[in-house]
Amino acid sequence: MIIVMKPQAEEEAILTVSKTIEQAGLEVHLSKGHEVTIIGVVGDKNILNRSVLCQLPQVEKIVDITETYKLANKKFHPEPTCVKVKNAFIGNGHTAIMAGPCSIENEDMMIRTAFAVKKAGATFLRGGAFKPRTSPYAFQGLEETGLKYMKAAADATGLASVCEVTSLEAITKAVDYVDMLQIGARNMQNFALLKEAGKTGLPILLKRGLSATIDEWLNAAEYIMAEGNPNVVLCERGIRTFETATRNTLDLSAVPVIKNKSHLPIIVDPSHGTGVREYVAPMARAAIASGCDGLMIEVHPEPSKALSDGPQSLTLEQFDNLCGELKPMLSFFGRTL
Ligand code: PEP
Ligand code: MN
Repeated sequence: MIIVMKPQAEEEAILTVSKTIEQAGLEVHLSKGHEVTIIGVVGDKNILNRSVLCQLPQVEKIVDITETYKLANKKFHPEPTCVKVKNAFIGNGHTAIMAGPCSIENEDMMIRTAFAVKKAGATFLRGGAFKPRTSPYAFQGLEETGLKYMKAAADATGLASVCEVTSLEAITKAVDYVDMLQIGARNMQNFALLKEAGKTGLPILLKRGLSATIDEWLNAAEYIMAEGNPNVVLCERGIRTFETATRNTLDLSAVPVIKNKSHLPIIVDPSHGTGVREYVAPMARAAIASGCDGLMIEVHPEPSKALSDGPQSLTLEQFDNLCGELKPMLSFFGRTL
């Protein structure tokens, strides 16, 4: 439930409504727009007396929110959210380009990649230290050693860093080294992990599950936000369909759907979305045109030698060319990097 106040409602009236809700044992979520303040109610709204609320001074109307996610809901928070990570911004007009290898392999490749992607226009360095691999025999990541390499590269370039965490133990380690935690597709509904990630207070990049609906995805974001962490960025990375020509089916329609339902920023990952190097640039361009708030792209100095996801990784030069194409597109759409 949300209580919409009359335009330019006074502080005192807002406080009266908030207190009435809190006295009933429920939580208040305030969203102050230019004109209108919206007071969101988190908890069991049935214990509130609607007719009492309706009659409080300067209350315009009461609207029921039917969706189970509240804090992630645009009705609760109509203004688009901008998430700040180190010196980078995502959302509300700011576009973030995250780039780097699938897996952190050694310090030299991280430093080399970081300087190259920064020069091209990236604002984040990505890289996996804990890899969720289909086969238990595939490279599993360098864990804490990898985090150290990532921190060295992020410190040297000033880029913000993002790394996936796959367990509670990985979270404990990653918080000391990275600026943003990634929850990967396979863990989108690992509710214990979502809660722990929320508790860290670090910004969270939440990838869409392989077969998750948008409603399930936003409820996963709600798990993080319910821990008091509003800094969630969604990432569309393709879903599983009958199509086998691409690794996944990149659902770009998720971008306008999310924009319609949520205030959270959404970025697109065309690397995992297509799984094929040649398709990454066209889908990156399409993603920008769809109105997303950023991209995550896998880049490797020598993709043929990559320990994971080589076939979908761009070379440093290909990434530079792609950024050259994206810059005029971004200014056409009035967005800044
Ligand atoms: C990754 O970003 O390297 C990754 C494993 O992504 P996803 O969870 O989207 O498969
Ligand atoms: Mn990968």
